[in-house]
Amino acid sequence: MTDALFRNFIDGRFDEPSATFDSVDPSTGAPWAKMPAASEADVDRAVGAAHRALRSGPWRTTTASARGKLLVRLGDLVAANAGRLAELETRDTGKIIRETRAQIAYVGDYYRYYGGLADKHEGAHVPIDKADLDVTIRREPIGVVAAVVPWNSQLFLSAVKLGPALAAGCTVVLKASEDGPAPLLAFAELVHEAGFPAGTVNILTGFGQDCGRRLTSHPLVSRVAFTGGPSTARTIVRNTAENLAYTTLELGGKSPVVVFADADLESAANAVVAGIFAATGQSCVAGSRLLIERPVRQEFLGRLKRKAEAIRIGDPQDPATEMGPLATLRQRDRIETIVAESLAAGGTLVTGGKRPDIGDGFYYAPTIIDAGNINLPCVREELFGPVLSVLAFDSEAEALALANDTPFGLASGVFTSNLGKAHRMARDIHAGVVWVNTYRAVSPLVPFGGYGLSGLGREGGLDAIRDYTRSKSVWIKTSDEPIPDPFVMR
Ligand code: NAD
Repeated sequence: MTDALFRNFIDGRFDEPSATFDSVDPSTGAPWAKMPAASEADVDRAVGAAHRALRSGPWRTTTASARGKLLVRLGDLVAANAGRLAELETRDTGKIIRETRAQIAYVGDYYRYYGGLADKHEGAHVPIDKADLDVTIRREPIGVVAAVVPWNSQLFLSAVKLGPALAAGCTVVLKASEDGPAPLLAFAELVHEAGFPAGTVNILTGFGQDCGRRLTSHPLVSRVAFTGGPSTARTIVRNTAENLAYTTLELGGKSPVVVFADADLESAANAVVAGIFAATGQSCVAGSRLLIERPVRQEFLGRLKRKAEAIRIGDPQDPATEMGPLATLRQRDRIETIVAESLAAGGTLVTGGKRPDIGDGFYYAPTIIDAGNINLPCVREELFGPVLSVLAFDSEAEALALANDTPFGLASGVFTSNLGKAHRMARDIHAGVVWVNTYRAVSPLVPFGGYGLSGLGREGGLDAIRDYTRSKSVWIKTSDEPIPDPFVMR
């Protein structure tokens, strides 16, 4: 039954949608809500509102300290409403409730962090090499930001864009994914309640080919912050050929987890399980390639198989559930295809590789494939699902070569009790994140982003706010003497 209607939030108002589409509950496979399908005209209104707010609305003269207070208030509202937002996210994406509750409560800290930073980002006074001139560098908001996010962890992935953008004084049009947009559209009510002036933040959803394309190529957009897959990223970069917007890209991964024989194997096995089966493997940092030192290969695979088969799969709204469904049917179809191709090409199934017998939802069992060959599709491609591919290695040099043999470079894990080895691996792995003897830790204080096909730019940490500003150099002549020679550059 379709029993809920969500709305786009444009120019401080919740719009009656002119077109809608059904959102499907992945745990049942049935539609449960109607979502607004933003048209190109809706995007134009949202960008127009954001541009007005930037140029002439009260936001233009809102001080950095006042922007910070608004962000802190928004963070408090997100934390206070985490339970309600978590139920919506779980309903619309199938992500388990124990994870959505914890993650959304933490999203509040991201807004508080950027709220605190808003009035600490300073310009500069330059000790200029000309006695009669004074130069200051102002840092100004870069302009209207188009933020585009995928369906997994939408509140979280929005916070790392909205937080620094608003702290810097930008205005934003945020496009939720057409898959699972409910939590972001509900979050718009909190933006409204926090008291941001109309047009400062606009939140809508719609499809990539019209709404997303128009937004990222819009002539009034100066900055695009995108998270999603690499092929969409290429389209976005082509879109920005229109407006030449400064663009950052947070993309996918095929992250290696290297387990040496000297590691604490029980702790490493738990981390590998967290890395690939948490969020049903639908995480950009999923540790989907296990590289295991040969002497402990059999023992470690045995541990992993037992742990994978003990995972409680089922209703994502049940707090006891450890793994929910995949978010979409097309996602499960794709995973089934790649697993079948990999097994046909010589991979050995350790466990899983099938649909568990749970109703009509988009469930898929935790799967481990002993690949033995780096060229199998399950080793090369991002599956974005609960599928772990395993390769064995005989030396540190081989482990490093295997870890780096990928066009991606988002995250990685190293498990060892040898300090020197940990440092060497951390230095030499080509990835934006290296976790040593841990996995899947994040914080607003720490930059995040990828190498290679995993992206361009960084989100999080102190520098993120700078990425939403541009400098303006102001030269002032301080002497009363006339300009000496108009034909010589000063
Ligand atoms: P996707 O690339 O299909 O979609 C992402 C967003 O782009 C959606 O909002 C979609 O509507 C929009 N879009 C699609 N076509 C567009 C177009 N032509 N113009 C403008 N916008 C367009 O990604 P997905 O399947 O929703 O998410 C999964 C991907 O996201 C995976 O590759 C995953 O690794 C990646 N991801 C990366 C990070 C990170 O921080 N690095 C985090 C989460 C997810």
